Amino acid sequence: MNALKAQITEIFSSVQGEGIFVGARQIFVRFKRCNMACEFCDTPNEGTAKEYSSTVLMYEIKALDGSNGPHHSVSLTGGEPLVYAEFLKSTLPLLKKAGFKSYLETNGTLPDSLESVIDFIDIVAMDFKLPSSTGGRAYWKEHLEFLKIAARKKVFVKSVVTTDTKKEDIEKAVRLIRTVNKKIPFIMQPATPVKDFDKRPGENRLLEFLDIALKEKIENSRVIPQVHKILGVK
Ligand code: SF4
Repeated sequence: MNALKAQITEIFSSVQGEGIFVGARQIFVRFKRCNMACEFCDTPNEGTAKEYSSTVLMYEIKALDGSNGPHHSVSLTGGEPLVYAEFLKSTLPLLKKAGFKSYLETNGTLPDSLESVIDFIDIVAMDFKLPSSTGGRAYWKEHLEFLKIAARKKVFVKSVVTTDTKKEDIEKAVRLIRTVNKKIPFIMQPATPVKDFDKRPGENRLLEFLDIALKEKIENSRVIPQVHKILGVK
């Protein structure tokens, strides 16, 4: 793979559907590939991608902003954008120079890659991958290291919750946030059904999770669904 190019599946203008910037108009740059394989993933690794250089990507972003702007920020999403850390190192300064804010959507498992680009990131939308939600291994060590770096900028943490999510994982997540800074917002996002997968937790379970976070004094705790799916936008 050429480190100065990235595989990108789509570039489009829409509204942010998750987290504390929900409803904000953004340009989305969707990177192909991820280092994880979550059960509830709605953006799998397959799909047609084109190879972009920083220059060509910037050209497309500026054209989209000209036709659909102004935009709140440019969302770097995926897949996992930090798989392309070298590419981001050359692209993010160009984005800043052109006057765009960068919004990184990340699974929060690649702290070294974040460290290499954090100076040029404005907002970090970081996932905590709860093992009982993803069906995979725990990433607490990586998440803690990652969150400490991300906390140099504006950051919030988001966790997808399903019918399988255990209370202990919510407790661990909030304790970890408190270790870094209890003012960091924590968003619990009920899993949206995809294909054969439908594990949306019920109201009581959601309230129970929210109460755990609030009792642990994470005062900016919220339950927010994927709003773009409800709006029917991309
Ligand atoms: S980290 Fe995100 S993009 Fe990667 S598999 Fe999980 S849900 Fe999909």
